Amino acid sequence: MTPGQIRDYLKYYRDLGIETIYRGTPPSTQPLPTLPVPPVMAKKPIQEAILPELTRLPELIPQGDTLAKIREDIGDCKRCRLCEARNKIVFGDGNESSPLVFVGEGPGADEDAQGIPFVGRAGQLLTQMIENTAAKEGIQLKRADVYICNVVKCRPPENRTPQPDEMEICGQFLFRQLMTIKPKAICVLGATAMKALLNTKEGITKSRGQWQKWRDIPVMVTYHPSYLLRQYNAQAKREAWEDLKTLLHFVYD
Ligand code: SF4
Repeated sequence: MTPGQIRDYLKYYRDLGIETIYRGTPPSTQPLPTLPVPPVMAKKPIQEAILPELTRLPELIPQGDTLAKIREDIGDCKRCRLCEARNKIVFGDGNESSPLVFVGEGPGADEDAQGIPFVGRAGQLLTQMIENTAAKEGIQLKRADVYICNVVKCRPPENRTPQPDEMEICGQFLFRQLMTIKPKAICVLGATAMKALLNTKEGITKSRGQWQKWRDIPVMVTYHPSYLLRQYNAQAKREAWEDLKTLLHFVYD
């Protein structure tokens, strides 16, 4: 090997982060494999060169993340099949530094048309529940003061429940939203959002009304407002109002 080749060789390994190369006879009786002579001009990025076969880990939450950056990263997203029938991506709505975030399942027809979460009948009920409960409890609070978003940002066809892979793919954006806002509490609306955040197999009727945690943030689980719209749910409605009362006092007292 010529001195020039040796120089290129060392530079190649230094670029890979390998600072020390030992000379001399190894203790093993096996001969060392011949190291490849580096291509002089064809240096590959380290990850590609060293770990071609490894599955890439999901990205860490970027430092200095903002909601605007997350929305930019979503772009015209086609990461899952829910992109096929959507009209608008429904990112989130409300006060971006709110101490309280509501998380639902996914957009419905009205939300898909307007690009805003919880604007249909269920959304109107949620708005009433927030504002009326707050007023009754002597808390100054409007819907615009809280932040509202969903587990998946595109409408599932026929309003079906999002599938686990869709929730997992889109959930990374939800997690970034929550880490960016860092609210004092999260209100999880319905079983799908509960599964996404708490990864539990418990039913919603058992879990509602109890404090749980997502990372370090307290989570209150309650019914999804679309469930409360059904005629026969008087009991569930009472329970949801109770859950909301507990939540609002925790956050705003
Ligand atoms: S649901 Fe989420 S991951 Fe799927 S296409 Fe829409 S924005 Fe992308």
